[in-house]
Amino acid sequence: MNYTRKYIIFFLLILSLSSINRATAQVTESKSSYNVNSIKNKGTLAPNANFTGTVWVNMVVSGNDSLDCAIGKVTFQPGARTHWHYHPGGQILIVTDGVGYYQEKGSPIHVVQTGDVVKCPPYKEHWHGASPDSEFTHTAISTNTSRGSVVWLKPVTDQEYLKKSNL
Ligand code: MN
Repeated sequence: MNYTRKYIIFFLLILSLSSINRATAQVTESKSSYNVNSIKNKGTLAPNANFTGTVWVNMVVSGNDSLDCAIGKVTFQPGARTHWHYHPGGQILIVTDGVGYYQEKGSPIHVVQTGDVVKCPPYKEHWHGASPDSEFTHTAISTNTSRGSVVWLKPVTDQEYLKKSNL
């Protein structure tokens, strides 16, 4: 076998290997449900029915798939907050910006800030939101969403909300 013939065979071998690689990649992509959302976006205004004040929500992971969780970024303007509510599957809050409040029924208000991680147990009534003087952003991870979605209750009154400053 001369050098030219060896070179041609080597070249053809490389060519066939690269086309096999491309075919494999296409099969992998079509089997996957790969989907990209960005958590950088502020999202859309949250419904007034469940929140007090101005709140944006960006749901980056929907609770209706096999991962059994929902993930959203929630941004509260100063003074804005959720209504009282509970999650049948629980929730984890990761504070990414600002200073806010978290309160469980029967407990005092806790001040939370950037970096804090809060675990809300299943069925525990609570609310979360901004403090009066700071915008507040958290990533909310609702866990075990197959147990049911959030159950909304009464608004957090100004008296309940301002109790922090009277303590
Ligand atoms: Mn919650």
